[in-house]
Amino acid sequence: MLTRVGRNAPFIGVQFIPLLAIFTGVSRTAVVLAVGLWVARMFFITAGYHRYFAHRSFRLGRVAQFGFALGGLTAAQKGPLWWAGNHRDHHRFADTENDPHSPQQGFWWSHIGWILSGQFNEKKYDRIPDFAKYPELRFLDKHDWIGPWALAVACYLIAGWSGLVIGFFASTVALWHTTFMVNSVAHVFGRRRYGSDDTSRNSFLVAVFTMGEGWHNNHHHYPASARQGFFWWEFDPTYYLLRALSFVGVVRDLRRPPQAVKGSARIRFGHLDLGMLRLHLNRAAKTARDDALVVPLRDLAARAEALAKQARQSERASA
Ligand SMILES: [Zn+2]
Ligand SMILES: [Zn+2]
Repeated sequence: MLTRVGRNAPFIGVQFIPLLAIFTGVSRTAVVLAVGLWVARMFFITAGYHRYFAHRSFRLGRVAQFGFALGGLTAAQKGPLWWAGNHRDHHRFADTENDPHSPQQGFWWSHIGWILSGQFNEKKYDRIPDFAKYPELRFLDKHDWIGPWALAVACYLIAGWSGLVIGFFASTVALWHTTFMVNSVAHVFGRRRYGSDDTSRNSFLVAVFTMGEGWHNNHHHYPASARQGFFWWEFDPTYYLLRALSFVGVVRDLRRPPQAVKGSARIRFGHLDLGMLRLHLNRAAKTARDDALVVPLRDLAARAEALAKQARQSERASA
């Protein structure tokens, strides 16, 4: 326990650095820096680390690919190969014991506990061979401190101590917790449109805080899409920016959800909600006290898990 606290001391300590604004004051330049850097870095995380490196939902040239990786590096969320590799595991094993951050193991665990646990620090490149083959990406992934350190120094040079405390640290802490919301809040609060085999939800509020990542149930239903807001009223600024970049040729082959995918597996039209079935059976098995109930409930829960696994395999085969 103590070693875990020691190992995480810098990460935990950084959460409190914005309080130093009491001494440094809050300059207007620092606030502009903080907001601008939150937006820019959220874009590099959602468009780059998530929609590109984890899901390959559009194409980039090699120089732009490096630029997206470098932009994501400044968000202080480790390197692109580590981030996207873990995220691929999240989709492959969603809400099972092999999911790195399922809220079924606790809300706190899915938000930040899985990072603090140290169990997922290893860089396993076999999960992401399609990008690990690029030496420049492996370099960034191995030296992931370069991004945040370079940005912190730049913030200090631009706006002094206030630039560092507010422009860099407050913005980084806000960026962390809004990003982490996708792993925690987006699997607990909101509505389910599609009967995906996990607990993902759609939430406008989460979409606002994450530049469009709140349509998480859409995303689990069809992860290959660069557009997560499937309908015009589903606010997805990351996609709007990607679209703009496609007009100038930086981004190519933006993938969108086909009409048939948008209309399939709709819960309101009677499709089985496998994700919630699993959740409720597992909960019921945990709550029951009488062995005569616990055993069949556990058995049913295990069968629902098997059904979900089967569904995931056929989804992957048809992707
Ligand atoms: Zn998810
Ligand atoms: Zn994803």
